[in-house]
Amino acid sequence: MRLLLVEDEMKVSRFIKKGLEEEGYAVDSASDGETGLAMGLDGIHDLIILDINLPVKDGLAVLSHLRQKNVSTPVLLLTVRAAIEDKVIGLDTGADDYLTKPFAFQELLARVRALLRRQPEAERPLLKVADLTLDPARRIVFRGEKKIELTTKEFSLLDYFMRNSERVLTRTMIAEHVWDYDFDSMTNVIDVYVNYLRKKIDTDRQKKLIHTVRGVGYVLKVE
Ligand code: CA
Repeated sequence: MRLLLVEDEMKVSRFIKKGLEEEGYAVDSASDGETGLAMGLDGIHDLIILDINLPVKDGLAVLSHLRQKNVSTPVLLLTVRAAIEDKVIGLDTGADDYLTKPFAFQELLARVRALLRRQPEAERPLLKVADLTLDPARRIVFRGEKKIELTTKEFSLLDYFMRNSERVLTRTMIAEHVWDYDFDSMTNVIDVYVNYLRKKIDTDRQKKLIHTVRGVGYVLKVE
């Protein structure tokens, strides 16, 4: 098990790292948000312990960026701010658990163990619809034998379509899940991206997978 610790207070960082290493975990550490984010984006860690108050980029910004990039590594947030709203914001942003400083090492260890248990050992399963395959862990897409190159946004859109195959998705649903924006003014953007995706997935294919449901939205399915 390999953990990432992002904490700027060297004393606290050394204390946590040493304790976790004694428990048999490999621990990488970063002392500012920017470095922590870059390391977290590698997606190689089983868990990230992330302080909220960090130089350069704060912990919540790091977390939000990781989730936007579809990095689903469990995150345990650390903070001295005991405010309830911090906790709510943190959990909304995609944190898995929360620990307020100061804490006993045993308490941290208990949370770490619980979060690691929650994460399945195996990689996340492949998504498949007909001969279209999306690998969420490696972020690659194949149609049959052909690898399909997608931009980050196209990938997120396809991921959402595949997790909801056979289901008609309205533009509002797509806007909320893939863009995190309100629906207003998004209509055209969604249509444009669906068309990009359609070109890459369905062009020259006998079986089309992305279908327009007139006046409603789109559906990914085998007809
Ligand atoms: Ca700090």
